[in-house]
Amino acid sequence: MDNSRSRRLYEKAKKLIPGGVNSPVRAFKPYPFFTSHAEGSRLYSVDGNVYIDYCMAYGPLILGHAHPKIIEAVKEQLERGTMYGTPTEDEVKIAELIVNLVPCIEMVRLVNTGTEATMHAIRAARGYTGRDKIIKFEGCYHGAHDYVLVEAGSGATTFGSPTSLGIPRDTARNTIVLPFNDIESFERAVMENRDEIAAVIIEPVIGNAGVIPPKKGYLNEIRKITEEEEIVLIFDEVITGFRLDLGGAQEYYGVKPDMATLGKIMGGGFPIAAYGGKREIMELISPLGKVYQASTFSGNPISVKAGLTTLEVIVKNRSSIYKRLEEAGEKIERGLKDIVEDRGLTAQVNRVASMFQIFFTDGPVLNYRDAKKSDKEKFMKYQRRLMSEGIFIPPSQFETCFISTAHTDDDIEKTLDAMDRAIKGL
Ligand SMILES: *Cc1c(COP(=O)(O)O)cnc(C)c1O
Repeated sequence: MDNSRSRRLYEKAKKLIPGGVNSPVRAFKPYPFFTSHAEGSRLYSVDGNVYIDYCMAYGPLILGHAHPKIIEAVKEQLERGTMYGTPTEDEVKIAELIVNLVPCIEMVRLVNTGTEATMHAIRAARGYTGRDKIIKFEGCYHGAHDYVLVEAGSGATTFGSPTSLGIPRDTARNTIVLPFNDIESFERAVMENRDEIAAVIIEPVIGNAGVIPPKKGYLNEIRKITEEEEIVLIFDEVITGFRLDLGGAQEYYGVKPDMATLGKIMGGGFPIAAYGGKREIMELISPLGKVYQASTFSGNPISVKAGLTTLEVIVKNRSSIYKRLEEAGEKIERGLKDIVEDRGLTAQVNRVASMFQIFFTDGPVLNYRDAKKSDKEKFMKYQRRLMSEGIFIPPSQFETCFISTAHTDDDIEKTLDAMDRAIKGL
């Protein structure tokens, strides 16, 4: 594969943009390929190479790249202006759809990114409870703002230390970080910090440490304890919302939080996100209440049109879409497991619906610590070999592979053949 144009662009980009990229995970060794265009399940590089894509822009593109209905709707909207600074009918339509689809959402506010959604959901929970502390879980990612960019110390219930420079210790001190899928440590932390915890924020299925599903009953237990202690439970459904089902993980697992954050899929490839929940919490948001949140671009007509069109397509084809995604996911999971067994490798394949990941480790992956035990070098070798076969998966053990409705049976067969060759001799 000739990638010389990408290599030259990367050399230049590195001098102009930190790491040559505008979001860290896009950089990988020796250099990323630069994309010229995309369609359906395919990414096309500036070097003329074609990839079957399982990164899907890190989750948003459940209908594939450049879905014709979305492109058409956005083109029409472009002619009518791109920003008004006044409310529109489409904002009411998308809000109504979200409220009807997502069980816990009685009122919703649109924002631009998942980072904004979690930041403002947490502020609302703090405003509502009058408490400062929050609980998050190791390996769960909730965006790049100060409240949540915090990792665990050594003990299970130690206060977090920042994952990044530039985060005030006083902010990190209010974030308690606990292991995922461990209800005892959660119960202990809640009891030790009684009446001080405003919110628990959790990815109901971790999609930012590979894929890690919740143990049976785990989310129900978290719900029970947070309800008893009057702690606001926030499901961060920026990945799982509209992916596991139209109502997200809360519908898939039948557990209703107090608030939820949405993003990625709801924009159909355009920047838009949302947070919402119980009416009595959401009524605290300005201008109705005293929790401030604002944004110039939120609810902009282009993103809203793209989002509305995406949701309408999914609603209209609900049963066929989720059935198809489940079938495709099952096929890849089974295929990958067979390959691992045939090639005599020790590896785990985790999957929920259309999210999957392989971990080169010998034990089950139930939390972030398990995921970190896997052989990351082996993973990157597997990723590079797949790229040379024309298959693009995210260049990190700690990301998720996503299937879209644009992936055909033929794509999946080609992918499994390539995976077999990539895994052989690892
Ligand atoms: C991607 C992601 C975010 C952050 O969303 P951005 O749009 O990148 O700011 C938050 N939470 C989860 C679960 C995510 O996967």
